[in-house]
Amino acid sequence: MELMRNFIGNEWTEGSSRIRNINPSDTNDVIGLYASADAAATNTAIEAAAAASFSWSRSTPEVRSDILDKIGTEILARREELGTLLSREEGKILSEGIGEVVRAGRVFKFFAGEAVRLNGERVRSVRPGVDIDVVREPEGVIGLITPWNFPIAIPAWKIAPALAYGNCVVFKPAEMVPGSAWALSEIISRSGLPDGVFNLVMGPGSKVGQALVDHPKVRAISFTGSVPTGSRIGLACFQSGKKVQMEMGGKNPLVVLNDADLDLAINTAVNGAFFSTGQRCTASSRLIVEDGIHDRFVEGVVAKLSKLRVGHALDKASEIGPVVSESQFEQDLDYVRLGKEEGARLAFGGERLNREHPGYYMSPALFVETSNDMRINREEIFGPVATVIRARNYDDALEIANDTQFGLSSGICTTSLKYAEDFKHKSAAGMVMVNLPTAGVDYHVPFGGRKGSSYGPREQGAYAREFYTSVKTAYTLA
Ligand code: ADP
Repeated sequence: MELMRNFIGNEWTEGSSRIRNINPSDTNDVIGLYASADAAATNTAIEAAAAASFSWSRSTPEVRSDILDKIGTEILARREELGTLLSREEGKILSEGIGEVVRAGRVFKFFAGEAVRLNGERVRSVRPGVDIDVVREPEGVIGLITPWNFPIAIPAWKIAPALAYGNCVVFKPAEMVPGSAWALSEIISRSGLPDGVFNLVMGPGSKVGQALVDHPKVRAISFTGSVPTGSRIGLACFQSGKKVQMEMGGKNPLVVLNDADLDLAINTAVNGAFFSTGQRCTASSRLIVEDGIHDRFVEGVVAKLSKLRVGHALDKASEIGPVVSESQFEQDLDYVRLGKEEGARLAFGGERLNREHPGYYMSPALFVETSNDMRINREEIFGPVATVIRARNYDDALEIANDTQFGLSSGICTTSLKYAEDFKHKSAAGMVMVNLPTAGVDYHVPFGGRKGSSYGPREQGAYAREFYTSVKTAYTLA
């Protein structure tokens, strides 16, 4: 089997060990062998990026725009092939895999536009004869650390703005899904970037990720992943004076009021909680349902779940793919056990399913009669597991929704303008949805959360410049 290598200083290099990329829909299917780098190789990539940094920071916006546009065009043209690879390695169903690839392509196109739109301000000084320019400059070398659940979209929404604003990149994808990251990097390697501007370093977080966080020439780290890893990275960046942006967990509430359109609420909840196998940081994990509609809602959700087809990600009939890995699967099953021990009632699912191929198949799990203080309602599960919490009225539902350490996304299903508006104002989340799933966002507007979910400036849209540029204030006495 061919070894897929790391891209360091414009050279494809073998690593010190190998990553086996396994298909979670069929664990007999080895997708590929990928080079795994160590700290020394990561340092070489950082030095290459640092050497390229000055000259790339002076490239014209048009050059950067053209390169990003070219990358986006190729990604979009290869959507079926790349989507198939993505679904094969991550386990989300093919339509979701292709959708994610399209999103990645669109992100590059969006930042191709942003590259030429970067502007500054000219401000009159409070002193006579003095003028002030406020401009944005690249940060320099940026380390990008990404998780497994969106193997091409998350890398895209970090790499594209980093390059658009003139930074150099060392990209470290999650070990579990190197295929999409490698394919994206291969496209980027042919896009016309000068040597060293973009580097791919696959390997373990403890070596490659840690080396990025430790190196003094890395000026900023953008991280998406779990809360414990994020906390460690955040602390290390603070100590070494690096800029840091972190997207971490969620425990996103979806409120369903008595006046909701019942079918819409059921579809919104099932989509938000279980699509992409519930492995989205924006997944609706707490369904907070007003008393008057509670029983009809639960009955409708259970009926829908019982019809959902869980199967091989590449089977066109599948509606939910497998869980990504054995360890994630064990964690999901542990939470199902824990929920029962805590006194919640399992209304549906939560079991291992056998399919034609050996894989991590699990029936979507719905807990009812839960209270917000249970661990299944406090901790992020990151799998096809959702809970229902009964609420007395809107105020009670709002209070429960906001009573969490997280604050990424939230939603409400209601036909009342009054409650919809009130919820948009009072929800303590970075993103609020009315009659829409908590997951599923656009690529041209800010993405991010509050409280324990996110740290630092927002990602995506024009707001991405806050992280990927540094502001300079220049005074002139003419
Ligand atoms: P998950 O596995 O749920 O995606 P993690 O937070 O474990 O969440 O991983 C997210 C990313 O962070 C991965 O690319 C992982 O390799 C990386 N990572 C893990 N540990 C470290 C570390 N100590 N320093 C830097 N990166 C790390």
